[in-house]
Amino acid sequence: MSTVAFPTTTIEGYPRIGAQRELKRALESYWSGQIDADTFRSTTRALRIDTYNHLRDLGLSEPYAIPADVALYDHVLETALTVGLVAGGTDLDEEFALARGTATRVPLEMTKWFDTNYHYLVPEVAAGQEITPVPDRIVRIVEEAREAGHQVRPYLVGPVTLLALSKPVEWSLLPALVDAYAQVFAALRQAGVEWVQVAEPIVVADVDTPDADIARYLGEAWSTLLGADARPNVYLTTPYGAADAALPVLGELKPEALHVDLSPWTLQATPDYVEQVRTHVAPETHLVAGLIDGRNVWAADLAERTEILTTLGATSVTTSTSLQHVPHTLKAERNLPVDVATWLAFADEKIAEALALSAGPQDAEVAFAASARVARTRAESPLRHDEAVAKRLGTLPAGQVQRQPLFAERQQAQREALNLPSLPTTTIGSFPQTPEIRQARAAHRNGTLSDAQYKEALQQEIKQVIELQEEIGIDVLVHGEAERNDMVQYFAELLDGFVVTENGWVQSYGSRCTRPPIVYGDVSRPAPMTVEWATYAQSLSNKPVKGMLTGPVTILAWSFKRDDVPLSVSADQIGAALADEVRDLEEAGISIIQIDEPALRELLPLRAKDRPSYLDWAVRSFRLVAVDAKPTTQIHTHLCYSEFGQIIDAVAGLDADVTSIEAARSRMELLADIDETFHSEIGPGVWDIHSPRVPSVEEIVELLQAALRHVPAEHLWVNPDCGLKTRKYEEVEPSLRNLVAARDAVLAQR
Ligand code: GLN
Ligand code: ZN
Repeated sequence: MSTVAFPTTTIEGYPRIGAQRELKRALESYWSGQIDADTFRSTTRALRIDTYNHLRDLGLSEPYAIPADVALYDHVLETALTVGLVAGGTDLDEEFALARGTATRVPLEMTKWFDTNYHYLVPEVAAGQEITPVPDRIVRIVEEAREAGHQVRPYLVGPVTLLALSKPVEWSLLPALVDAYAQVFAALRQAGVEWVQVAEPIVVADVDTPDADIARYLGEAWSTLLGADARPNVYLTTPYGAADAALPVLGELKPEALHVDLSPWTLQATPDYVEQVRTHVAPETHLVAGLIDGRNVWAADLAERTEILTTLGATSVTTSTSLQHVPHTLKAERNLPVDVATWLAFADEKIAEALALSAGPQDAEVAFAASARVARTRAESPLRHDEAVAKRLGTLPAGQVQRQPLFAERQQAQREALNLPSLPTTTIGSFPQTPEIRQARAAHRNGTLSDAQYKEALQQEIKQVIELQEEIGIDVLVHGEAERNDMVQYFAELLDGFVVTENGWVQSYGSRCTRPPIVYGDVSRPAPMTVEWATYAQSLSNKPVKGMLTGPVTILAWSFKRDDVPLSVSADQIGAALADEVRDLEEAGISIIQIDEPALRELLPLRAKDRPSYLDWAVRSFRLVAVDAKPTTQIHTHLCYSEFGQIIDAVAGLDADVTSIEAARSRMELLADIDETFHSEIGPGVWDIHSPRVPSVEEIVELLQAALRHVPAEHLWVNPDCGLKTRKYEEVEPSLRNLVAARDAVLAQR
């Protein structure tokens, strides 16, 4: 093995999308045929080299300090193609076909990467399959960097994590997969690589495979891999939490370097983790301390971080996770409130923090002084605290809250008040976001469209959406959400306690990015947020139009969170603010209000022990929104993006009157988890809106009949899986007509 020491300062990964979203543009231009494969390759190569240059200029100048966590679409797919767990690694178009599907093939499933908002592609595997590695993929990355003068550290997802995240989970593949990794390692060694980074974050999460088995697989896989001679030094990493039960195993395996996640967030959940690390990591393993938080945006308190570093003895400094979860740089933000801006650190600022921490308080005196000043001004700032919010929250009861009267009585009252037909039809909220809507919003933002003109344009849009629904014969209408750029950002812009960025793009998946808002202080609602649009829409129809809110858990899940109060505090505050919105909507004559919580599953903690308390406060914050609603006000909720079987009790616990939930793609699988304890009315989705396909009347009828085997007819609603904002009117119109026709057909048969 080699003699090149592990760098004293590094990071776990860097945003791949590009500071100007260059990767997004290259991908979309290539997919649409605007550029050819050669241009695409040279553009993305230039972006990678620019990134290495940039990281070196920021101070990551030691050999192997720059991670090459390269991927065109997704890093899990990249590793799966390189080690050959997924075939197709020699062809660019095949890679994109796997990621996005083609006219004749469905894409790989996509799901959340640990408890982040990044989605990875789930490798599809089968027992006994071929595993033929394509080491050239990773060797090329190293060589193109070397040609540009950089000794980068290639990156792979580890074999145990890769199998645990594949579908189905097929552990019999492990020996063959390990052999493929060994071949990739040998090729890297052959190419003169001294350090490879391999991530095994599966050790920080409780998954279906029991801890003891994960520990055994880790032992098997890594004793084989580390036992081989022809390999680079191995830097094994454990981002996203505490390795807990697996830490002794990793310690014993003695990789040349081991990363641990020591972010404030992780140490809060596992306060004795520093001690565990001291106990279990062998002296011959180079300990790499993930002290800079890779997934939140708050500036580090360098003095506090130094104490941990000192406790652990001589080590290297890195980030707790890849920086892919935070925006590139604060330099791109010109309009953040000055105070709040000084409290923040995005990717580039975090690199400076890691370097200062490595250098220590003597050598990095200026950085330490600045950090102390930020910690003090933030602690003393009146901006974070709002007396009125504290007072309001003080009046709320502790523990769970319960809307009165209970569901059965409310249901009766709502039947009389709303007088809806059997199997009522509705949609989830958004209608297609047309280019005209986007243009109007952009023009309003940059001042070329006045407030009045913008309002006029939106009202025009709402009118068309209402007329279309009336004409198709939908029973419960929506206004279409044309005013919302994003279901979280819209509310964050209108609530106090949040800031939004101009350029804080973070990759969500593939070419898709979001700009998560930042919660920096107590949250309150200075003025109504949705009432104007809802009442305008309602004025156009005699049918009920749903008021449409995003729930507290989802607003929080898709924002950067405070680190100075528990999440439950922010959730309560958002819940209370939304409760005021519910009251105002009621007063304006809105009789049905939907509170979307698609991210309820996403914030579920990685460790089973932390889940009950999360579900308690999450459910409470939702209930706070509706607790004072009139009995005749029908409260809907909507859930999607994941399988809810595991948390179905919490979904029932939301105590909504109607729950719409994604179900079409899984052919109503979730209904098996529904039992008597699930008392609300329910609308399992009957149209998979993630696909441009128009569902036929027959297939919707079939799904409804399947639903009727589990749900009494008087509880069943008919609706799509999710909002329609990503669809086109050409698909929406016929699909909705079929949905209504299918409902009528089912009613006629009864
Ligand atoms: N009401 C939102 C919409 O229709 C819900 C979106 C979501 O669940 N992700 O777009
Ligand atoms: Zn949805």
